[in-house]
Amino acid sequence: LAGVALETMTQASDRTRPADIRVSVEQQGDGALRITYDLKKPRKALLFGALAAGHRARRWEFETPGFKLARLDDGDRITRNDGAKFNSVVLTASPDLIRIQKDYQPITAYGEGGVMVYTGHFWPLTARGGRVNATFSFMPAPGAKAVAFGARADRLTDWRSPMAHPAFVYMGPLQPVETREVMAVVDGAAPQWISDEFYALTPRVFSHLAGALGFSLAVKPNLFLAAPLGREEARLSYSGDALPAQFQITLEGGAWRERSPKALGVFRRSTIHEAVHLWQAAARPGSEEVAGWIHEGAADAIAAETLLALGLWNAADYTADFDRAREECTGE
Ligand SMILES: [Zn+2]
Repeated sequence: LAGVALETMTQASDRTRPADIRVSVEQQGDGALRITYDLKKPRKALLFGALAAGHRARRWEFETPGFKLARLDDGDRITRNDGAKFNSVVLTASPDLIRIQKDYQPITAYGEGGVMVYTGHFWPLTARGGRVNATFSFMPAPGAKAVAFGARADRLTDWRSPMAHPAFVYMGPLQPVETREVMAVVDGAAPQWISDEFYALTPRVFSHLAGALGFSLAVKPNLFLAAPLGREEARLSYSGDALPAQFQITLEGGAWRERSPKALGVFRRSTIHEAVHLWQAAARPGSEEVAGWIHEGAADAIAAETLLALGLWNAADYTADFDRAREECTGE
């Protein structure tokens, strides 16, 4: 998945004005988060963007009495039951039991009680669909740290993403590893060969993409890698999400435990695909008006060129992939 449905960037002037809404995100047990919205001026409603399958209605529970959540065609709305204005509301948000398709997961569970939060699903919208001028405070559980971009801290207070865009923030015990290419937070549950492969692959891929696409990334990206492998031994699932200067990988299925040719192939190809999204996001702000297949297809094509250029694929692999892609296109 691309984060290339890039939103209009937050107004630059917002960054210096005090926030209209302060959002605090407090880590609870079992991957749950206590979310507090503090409004500078009372409002009648908080609006949120679309999130599939009624996720908020199922997984958000109000702690402040007298509130309700309504599902709209293009999102959700929090109001008081009596319709009056309010200046604060507290709720508990729990991770979903199923993976939400074609969207960022609001909360992803990491090993040792860690969680990764996608701020976009918690960030209220204006009536015109832009983002409210908001700041986030992240309060990890005792002993845990908050990690976002270059920061690792006991807490982040009144924080805004340096990319002026929704972002991933990790809360948990993991220590990031900084290489020349990335600042990585890799789940302790990930098999060793995965992190070895990642650290071996990224320098080659980044250097190839910088050369082929004509520029290097201005901001060192974060990688977050979760590995809730689970008990399905034959499963080999890779899901990736890219945002400006961040990408997230979730590996599920027992087939990741061994470094098989198949697992290695999926890992390399998908990781390069996500890396291409980082260059796409850096090259130009996207628009929802651009059909998904354009940046997804381009990321697949550039990943194939990269695999060939790095000698990880031979000409026959490349041709087979091209034929498969063509068949898929004509089939749709
Ligand atoms: Zn993608």
